[in-house]
Parts: sequence; structure tokens; C-alpha cells
Amino acid sequence: MPTSANPGSLKERYEAVLDQVSSAALACGRQPDSIQVIVVSKNHPAQLVLDLIDLGARNFGENRDQEAAPKAAEVASASSESINWHFVGQLQSNKVKSVLHYASAIHSIDRPSLLSAIAKEIAQQEAPRPIDGFIQLNLTDDPNRGGIEPKNLIEFAEQLLETKAVNLLGVMGVAALDRAPEVDFETIARASESLQALDPAAKFISAGMSQDFVQAIPFGATHLRIGTAITGNRAY
Ligand SMILES: *Cc1c(COP(=O)(O)O)cnc(C)c1O
Repeated sequence: MPTSANPGSLKERYEAVLDQVSSAALACGRQPDSIQVIVVSKNHPAQLVLDLIDLGARNFGENRDQEAAPKAAEVASASSESINWHFVGQLQSNKVKSVLHYASAIHSIDRPSLLSAIAKEIAQQEAPRPIDGFIQLNLTDDPNRGGIEPKNLIEFAEQLLETKAVNLLGVMGVAALDRAPEVDFETIARASESLQALDPAAKFISAGMSQDFVQAIPFGATHLRIGTAITGNRAY
């Protein structure tokens, strides 16, 4: 499915997405305010983030530290609003230190070596404070794709909880493009249930992007990561 931008101005696109989220939530008996829209601003300049702050957005997602670190600094110097940066992309261990400077949550904790790197950095902080995090699931048959196999989720979650470096919010997933997204949202929802049996606080689900966020909502998604439907096509 090609990613295509909604027409209209930024304000119209942002408000249209919020309306769609509210309607989809109400249609399945959920409270709209139990769902957070994270605007994925990757490949767009800091000015777009500032414009969205003016429209009321407070949660932004980025997938590359090289781009996100300077953007977060630029936004912080231009706006006094307190906003949250969510790191949603594959994260190299040597970028963890930088990401911890601006991100309030990491959605892509996907392997033991990354977990160790996070724990090591946090332990070195003057006042160690756990970072909010999601465990990313690999929903494909390709072991080279990022993410923990659903069958290994509990073992990895136990390891994560042991470190005390991450405040585990829940599971994250990216639906495969080659099948109905509901198939993967169902897998994520089941994984979430098994995780909550281990850690009742880890009840959140980061799932749903521009093409499938409406479908993710009945499956319990609480953190939608939405880029192009709001921002328009990526500029670079
Ligand atoms: C880019 C990205 C998104 C947003 O994608 P859109 O299709 O533009 O909504 C969400 N999640 C992750 C992990 C991404 O890299």
C-alpha cells in the first residue's frame, strides 16, 4: 500500500487524524483520551514540529538519532512548551547515550545488547532514572528484522525488568505490509496480555501508523505513531 498524504493544510490533517482517532475509539467503546497520538516528524524540519506544537501536539517520534538530536535541540531553543520525544526506530547501542538526553521513551527495545547498553548508560547517570520503554515485537518470519519473537517475549521482559533501567510500558509492533494489519494487531494484543500477566503495569500498546491506525484501535493500541497522514509526504 503506498503511503499517501491526506490533502489540506497541516492543521486540517492533524485535526482530521484526531477526529478519526476519537471516532474509532468511541466505535469500540474506548475513551478517546486513553489513546496518545505521537506525530512522527522524521524527515521533516524542526519548524514542522514547532507548527504542530502551536496546534496542540506534544508528542513527537523520530527514528534516527543523527536527525533527532539536533532537531530536539532546535525545538527546545525555540519553544518553551514541554514536549515528549519518542524514539521509534532501530537503535544502535552507541547512540543510546545521545538518545537518553532528549527522549522520554524508547519504543524499539528489541535485543539484549541494546538493553545492556541502556542499563549501562542509566547506571552512569548522576541521578539514575529509568526510561519509559516498549519491547518491540518482530511480526515477520525474518529473524533479521528488528524485534523480539513473540515466543521469546516473556524471557526478554524478565531480563528487562531485572535491570530496573526501563519503566516497561508494554509492547510495540509494526504491522507487515503483505497482509491485513488485523492479523498482526491480534498477535500484538495477545503478546500484550501475556506480558501483563508478568507485569500488570506494562499494559500499553504502541501500534498503528498512517495506513492502519484506525484498525489498531479496536485491538487496544494506546500509542499511535503517525507520520505522513499528519505531516504530509516526507520532505527528504
Ligand atoms: C516512520 C515510522 C512511523 C510513521 O509512519 P507513517 O506511515 O508515516 O505514519 C511509525 N513507526 C515507525 C517505527 C516509523 O519508523
